[in-house]
Amino acid sequence: MALYITDECINCDVCEPECPNGAISPGEEIYVIDPGLCTECVGHYDTPQCQDVCPVDCIPKDPENVETTEMLQAKYEALMAQEC
Ligand code: SF4
Ligand code: SF4
Repeated sequence: MALYITDECINCDVCEPECPNGAISPGEEIYVIDPGLCTECVGHYDTPQCQDVCPVDCIPKDPENVETTEMLQAKYEALMAQEC
């Protein structure tokens, strides 16, 4: 399941550099996560790095983007293959 950023985001900028997939970027009003790039940090870390650093806890799982760990692992491998 990809994560998403709610409107409680205070644009503090700390999550963006923590994302190993470059999935987080400044949106028009708040930061946004590209669900095509977010692997919930599967393949890189044991826990979602953005959730770990967000001071206002505004990055829940996105019920619209439900994915199994296997799907997230496959997305990670596809993203890594693109980078090579
Ligand atoms: Fe990036 Fe990981 Fe957060 Fe997804 S969970 S947006 S991959 S830091
Ligand atoms: Fe917004 Fe949280 Fe990211 Fe800060 S860490 S920019 S509050 S989502």
